Order: sequence, then structure tokens, then C-alpha cells
Amino acid sequence: MRILVVEDEKKVASFIKKGLEEEYFAADIANDGKEGLNMATTEEYDAIIMDIMLPYIDGISLLKEIRKRQIATPVLMLTVKDSLKDKVEGLDAGADDYLTKPFAFEELTARIRALLRRNETTKSSKLKVGNLVLDLHTHKVIRDNQEIILTPKEYAILEYLMRNSNKVVSRTKLIEHVYEYHFDPETNIIDVYINKVRSKVDTNFATPLIHTIRGIGYIIKDE
Ligand code: CA
Repeated sequence: MRILVVEDEKKVASFIKKGLEEEYFAADIANDGKEGLNMATTEEYDAIIMDIMLPYIDGISLLKEIRKRQIATPVLMLTVKDSLKDKVEGLDAGADDYLTKPFAFEELTARIRALLRRNETTKSSKLKVGNLVLDLHTHKVIRDNQEIILTPKEYAILEYLMRNSNKVVSRTKLIEHVYEYHFDPETNIIDVYINKVRSKVDTNFATPLIHTIRGIGYIIKDE
């Protein structure tokens, strides 16, 4: 899952990015409101974390602009103080949740996970395809009682496929949701990673779950 962080305080932004990466998210930073608007409207994100106080375009105006352009990506607003006015304005402008600075990182990731769950039919913290289970909290992947050890990128790929199980996921979509902004889509690294995920998830099991749809992408399904 790929997250956009719109925050002009460099220290805070890199702290959030580092923390998100430790939780296996891909994260991009926009340093001001203008850059945030540009990135939010040209790239595809699964969630946006946005400060209210931003240069050029403040968070409330930025959020209004994003919603005006029909971008429904869940937004978590960061407010400096526990200001009721900021919260009300943020929620009115289309924010899904808010968090008051300073915050504990655990709370931020818990709220992000909750926002990502809102679009899903199941509210469970586990994704399941056949006998394969991925735990979004512990990042553990189990198939038929055997733990499968994945690197963070392999995990992110499997998570995205499992969130979209029984649907074909294009190579481009996979790259957009698993990699950061400066990733070169022409490289074959995604195929290399997919092969690694596959060998870990499917080798030694009678039924393969991950399938290649030639020329399009990949699908994970239990058949
Ligand atoms: Ca700020």
C-alpha cells in the first residue's frame, strides 16, 4: 500500500516515512501544498496523511481541491494543537480522520490501517485466499500451518494481490501501489519480485494460488 505524506517539516515527514516503511508501506513525501496537490492528482495513493499548516496551499484548501477533483483517497489530517476548529474544518472539507501532533507512531499506523479497511467488505485484520493467510498487524504469512518468510517488498506485493484477490492486477497497478515515486516502471524488478513471492507461496503446495495473465499482470485466487 502506498501512502502520500504532505508535510513541510522535514523531520516530521521523514519520521513518518521511515515509520511507514517499517510497517511495509511505500511512502512518498510532498514538502508543501502545491507539491501535495500535484502528487495526489497525478499518482495513485491508497491513503494520504496531510498536515494542516503547509506553505503555498494549506491542508484544508488542498483537501477541498482534491475532493473537488473526485479523488476519494482516504485522508488523515494532522493538527498541531487539539483545536476543535481545525478538526471540524478538516472533517467538513472531506477528511476521514485526524490526529493531533505530537502523536505516538503506533496510533498513526493503527489509524492508517483503519482507513484502508474502510473500503473493504471484510473488516478483518487478516486477508485469506484458500489456505493462505496474511496478518496485516503482525505481517505474518501462513499457508497450511507453515510460516512463509517474506522480505518487506515481497510482503507488500502479496498484500496488494490478496487485497484484490480474484481480480487481475496489472503490472502497472502493482508498481503504483507497492513502489515509491521515483520507481522506473521499465525495469523488470517487479517480475523478479513476483517470482520470489511465488516460489515462497506456491512451491511445495499442490495448488498454485498466484497466476500470470500473459501480457496483463497477475491474479491470486483459490482454484
Ligand atoms: Ca506543517
